[in-house]
Amino acid sequence: MRATFKTLQSNRNHIEDILAYYMPVTETGCWIWLGKVNRGGYGVIGYQGVQWIVHRLFFRELRFDLGDMQGDHICNTPCCCNPDHIVPATDRENKLRAGQFKLSDEQVKEILASNELHKDLARKYGVTRGHISNLKRSYRVSTLGRRR
Ligand SMILES: [Zn+2]
Repeated sequence: MRATFKTLQSNRNHIEDILAYYMPVTETGCWIWLGKVNRGGYGVIGYQGVQWIVHRLFFRELRFDLGDMQGDHICNTPCCCNPDHIVPATDRENKLRAGQFKLSDEQVKEILASNELHKDLARKYGVTRGHISNLKRSYRVSTLGRRR
């Protein structure tokens, strides 16, 4: 049974009602969210007092909790909430895929291995200092606990 927007408003603490509130598009298989979307085009919903990005909530309920990972749309449809169209990605993978990192993997390795000042590295590789710091920080976080 498909929920109407009115029943969704009153039953938003019941996950079944939220999960039913989408429109399947058969050609692409996308589940188009019919409720509110944010500026990025992602579906949003308040659920049990927490504001959720809808595809993350769907993914949690139908697959597993993404935690710190991003849910990458393989269909490039932000308001799609079909968990089959969501690939869990780390922040870095997601940025790489989106082309936000202009550094090659080789350059990333050199930067991570280097003890040069961040501002010198930034100049050398043509990126911002913040970019270098983020890179070093995210690397540290992702390798925590893996060292001997
Ligand atoms: Zn989709």
